[in-house]
Amino acid sequence: MNIILLGPPGAGKGTQAQRLVAALGMVQLSTGDMLRAAVKAGTPVGLKAKAVMDAGELVSDEIVSGIIGEALDQLAPDVGVIFDGYPRTAAQAESLDALLGARNRQLDHVIELAVDEDALVDRITGRFTCASCGEGYHDRYKTPKVEGVCDRCGSTEFKRRPDDNEETVRTRMAEYRAKTAPILPIYEERNIVSRVDGMADIDEVSNAIVTILDR
Ligand code: ADP
Ligand code: AMP
Repeated sequence: MNIILLGPPGAGKGTQAQRLVAALGMVQLSTGDMLRAAVKAGTPVGLKAKAVMDAGELVSDEIVSGIIGEALDQLAPDVGVIFDGYPRTAAQAESLDALLGARNRQLDHVIELAVDEDALVDRITGRFTCASCGEGYHDRYKTPKVEGVCDRCGSTEFKRRPDDNEETVRTRMAEYRAKTAPILPIYEERNIVSRVDGMADIDEVSNAIVTILDR
């Protein structure tokens, strides 16, 4: 099964992808995570992407579709994929069709996480992750069970993203509205879009997604 989690920054894509990975053994392909790893490693892709990401704008279609193609090639053919943060433009949606087709994969579901824009700044400015395993947290909505200790791996190191500030979030939301939301009709025409209330509790959102995937 191959699915896309679609929604604006802070909608809960990464949170839900991590849960699907744990529950169903699928693999999460997050272009944001892969780009941040490239920036950290100082690769040519990372060097090109850094300033664009810091500004909250979109990295080029060629770069992100390139890294998705490379990531798909690392996977066993029968493992299910969750696309998180990709595709974000019509050109990327077209590339994804070609990348999947060339690997005998098909897109089964596009899950749209519907959220209130007003809540997103709050979600994003409160976001932090475990520096060791990447588990996602929030200052108020998802705190570690023991303060300062990661639930999943026990690490005491956490980090925040440099682009998770109010100004950049506004640009990222504008990019979503202008370039990403318009790709939904491509998938609606194929009857593979399901809309989930992303404002519900994290557990409720997970249950709604699993119900859709079980159909
Ligand atoms: P995305 O990957 O779509 O940018 P995240 O999954 O990182 O979004 O979620 C953004 C922030 O909001 C995180 O700090 C996360 O813990 C929190 N969050 C995610 N889903 C919910 C939810 N349903 N209710 C409240 N907070 C949530
Ligand atoms: P994310 O982790 O999904 O919030 O992405 C963080 C940043 O990485 C975005 O603001 C973009 O600059 C860049 N990025 C991630 N995925 C893509 C994509 N599919 N297309 C273009 N830019 C992307």
